[in-house]
Amino acid sequence: MPIWNPWHGCHKISPGCQNCYVYRRDSQFGKDSSQVARTGNFDLPLRKNRDGSWKLSGEEPVYACMTSDFFLPEADPWRAEAWEMIRLRQDLSFVIITKRIERFSVALPADWGDGYANVTILCTCENQEQADRRLPVFLSLPIRRREVIQEPMLEEIHLEPYLASGKILRVTCGGESGEEARLCDYGWILDTRSQCIRFGTAFHFKQTGARFQKEGKVYRIDRKFQESQARRAGIDWEPGDRRWMDALFDRLSRSAFRSSFHLRARERAYLEEKGMAVMEQHARDFVRQRLAPAEPAHDGKQTPMKGHPVFLAQHATGTCCRGCLYKWHRIPKGRELYPAEQDYVVEILLEWIRRQQKSG
Ligand code: SF4
Repeated sequence: MPIWNPWHGCHKISPGCQNCYVYRRDSQFGKDSSQVARTGNFDLPLRKNRDGSWKLSGEEPVYACMTSDFFLPEADPWRAEAWEMIRLRQDLSFVIITKRIERFSVALPADWGDGYANVTILCTCENQEQADRRLPVFLSLPIRRREVIQEPMLEEIHLEPYLASGKILRVTCGGESGEEARLCDYGWILDTRSQCIRFGTAFHFKQTGARFQKEGKVYRIDRKFQESQARRAGIDWEPGDRRWMDALFDRLSRSAFRSSFHLRARERAYLEEKGMAVMEQHARDFVRQRLAPAEPAHDGKQTPMKGHPVFLAQHATGTCCRGCLYKWHRIPKGRELYPAEQDYVVEILLEWIRRQQKSG
């Protein structure tokens, strides 16, 4: 991946910085990472080869400032020039990862408008506190391409209020590398993935980190396998990818209780008479009234209403009460469901009914 480091050095500002790889690497060479300086590659985007071609070219995005932070105060005097190089190289796309999103507007170009089309900003959120501090700012800024990166991911993080904005294109997760690496739990990664699917946001599992916990067992993973192990998990997700639905129905089929529900003659007759459009409307109404409130009435005590396919579908898919919704779909109790989450439940209910129809 092409990298452009216009300046080097940084300061630790939040828990994610504890084992910063820049500090780790510099210490091997006796270098003080807290000294911030422009590098010899400052103008790399404008440099050319002898044959006149750009030194930086190609389709791959250029990662800027990987040994510092683009919005570091010491870099304020240099940033306008860096933005200008980015503006001039519209043929390249640039990725900027920051823990200092609150400093985004310092030295922003006058012609920035709602953002240069060739710039993607990734806001780092290593824990819930930093997500709640940084993401409201991130969402309020004029940025065309926004992504979130949870790396090193230090705990389960709830992004739902921010994903609901529809302004976040992708969430990337990863663990921490190095000898002192803190634990990363696969359950946190899957939880973020589930949030992304519910809100239609792309998801990327980048790397496991060096200490990775899966189903209660802790693994020490060598640096050279951290990315390949994440790839092997095969859990990246893009909007429109329906494989999660197959995985869900596969899990449900392994539950004796959930798989005991089927459309019988009575429900089939009702379905035949009303049609799928009415089923969808009923599903939306049931979900909104019985499931979506923060504290639904009679939650957990619902029984399938005989004769209605949607109620059967709710029990068959673990969407019957907030307890089941958490257990099967990781949607927390005690808060109202977002509209996107209601759509997600309705989509599952209709899918169950369709599958039942097909299975005859
Ligand atoms: S912001 Fe990034 S580069 Fe700077 S100290 Fe923290 S982890 Fe290191």
